[in-house]
Amino acid sequence: MTGTGSSRLSGSLSRAVAGLLAVAGIGGAAIGCSPARQPDAARWKLTSQAEPLVAAPGLRARIFAALDAAEKAGTDPSLSKFQVRAATVIEHDGARREIVGGNSEYAGLPEAIHGETSLLNHVINAVGPDEARRAVDFIAFHSQHCGGGGSCGDCRDYLMTTTRWQDLLVVCGQASDHSVHVERFAKGIVGEDQFPEVALSAIGLPARRVDELARAAAEARRGGVSLFTSEAEHLGVAALTTTGRIYRAAGADDAAFHYRYPVGAVLQQAATYRDYFVQAVVVAGAAGRLPRLRYRDRQYGYEFSSFNRKRGLEPIRLILVEEAPGAEPQALRYRLTTFEDALPGAFSATDFMPDAVDRFLDRGPGR
Ligand SMILES: [Zn+2]
Repeated sequence: MTGTGSSRLSGSLSRAVAGLLAVAGIGGAAIGCSPARQPDAARWKLTSQAEPLVAAPGLRARIFAALDAAEKAGTDPSLSKFQVRAATVIEHDGARREIVGGNSEYAGLPEAIHGETSLLNHVINAVGPDEARRAVDFIAFHSQHCGGGGSCGDCRDYLMTTTRWQDLLVVCGQASDHSVHVERFAKGIVGEDQFPEVALSAIGLPARRVDELARAAAEARRGGVSLFTSEAEHLGVAALTTTGRIYRAAGADDAAFHYRYPVGAVLQQAATYRDYFVQAVVVAGAAGRLPRLRYRDRQYGYEFSSFNRKRGLEPIRLILVEEAPGAEPQALRYRLTTFEDALPGAFSATDFMPDAVDRFLDRGPGR
């Protein structure tokens, strides 16, 4: 939701971080929650596009108060230096409460708790999950620049679980001119049943190749680790690169709940062989069920598809395979889209460091 480059990343990263700060007891109130202050209404100015989305005066007041609070939210972006400061103000028990979140990075690797994840975690800490789902109607970011990108895939997954996301608003307050930009979170959500169903002949690859990929994905699904993952959610994936190689992977879970997503896994395998340019990713799920592809996994695909776009190649074809109900096992339905369409408003490394991505891809012989 925030603007270009760093601000967009910061918005996304910050959403995960505030939770850690709260757990650490940083910043006074243990969960970053306190009675809402009186907003300086004259300080913030809604854009004309934002005004109809936030018509109610009470909502506007809460948004302005949240932007004031977000401005002061603590962050710890040790690696990226991008600060994502988030806040919301909810009505709870007859009073307004402001709650903040922010990004923090850790492990000396590009790992982060993101601002919006952090924020919602703090709301749940403060009022419980049911009340959080009822009361949170917006997330506000304080940013250097607004406009453009949305949350990362993982934050979309988390917000879809913890909020009434169909009604959720994403607010960005721009530091330089105090303009307030508002969008619907739902603009970044595309259900799998909205991916167009296509005939095998319309996929743009030889039918025999698509069939080979579908079989490879189904075979991959027999593996992986699904000790905590339901049968309905377990996925297998196959990827075809421009070198003609096919890679396979399945989802894998563990006791720490650090799920390894199958699209991410199959692309990591290809990258291990310096095979960075992917023609198609095929996803197979449980029999008779349309595979559900989480937004975090869409993010992995989007990052790789941005490598294609860097080189003038077509975006990666994202193909979901579903057995037609009541049909012979060989009768498959295909839904075809791209990671670009499946993750609207996404960002990738090519947005933040295009020259570095060029240099990186130039070193790799796989194309
Ligand atoms: Zn995120």
